[in-house]
Amino acid sequence: MNSPHECATTVVLNEDESERLAQVPDPAHEPVDALPCELQAGHPGPHMAMAQVSGADTAWWLRWSATDRALIAVDEETGYCEASGPAVDSQNRDECWLCQLPADHFGAHSWQMPNTTTGRIPSEANQQKLIDLANELMERQ
Ligand SMILES: [Zn+2]
Ligand SMILES: [Zn+2]
Repeated sequence: MNSPHECATTVVLNEDESERLAQVPDPAHEPVDALPCELQAGHPGPHMAMAQVSGADTAWWLRWSATDRALIAVDEETGYCEASGPAVDSQNRDECWLCQLPADHFGAHSWQMPNTTTGRIPSEANQQKLIDLANELMERQ
């Protein structure tokens, strides 16, 4: 059996792209130099890699092919794929994994593929947010 897996072709960001990504407000991840394609291996058309998340609801994706590359914003208007997968926590079925690839993407949903791409390091501001959230949850109990 061949389970779907990520394309994972990597792209090195150019100076212009790095600069633009460094300027997005409220970044969720530490900047990186290279990104892996997150679509299913064997996909037609350009590669897609999540480059940065800005605030609560805008993600910047890099779309590239041999001849063309562009940073595109994926937000509620342009649409995420909302296919929901297995529960995040098997004890609590309220919260399920969401695909969150750009809407109408080719192939398997993100949660159908083993995570071959290494996790991103949260930005400093985001680390603080995660700590605050954890503290808040503890206080509520
Ligand atoms: Zn690809
Ligand atoms: Zn999907």
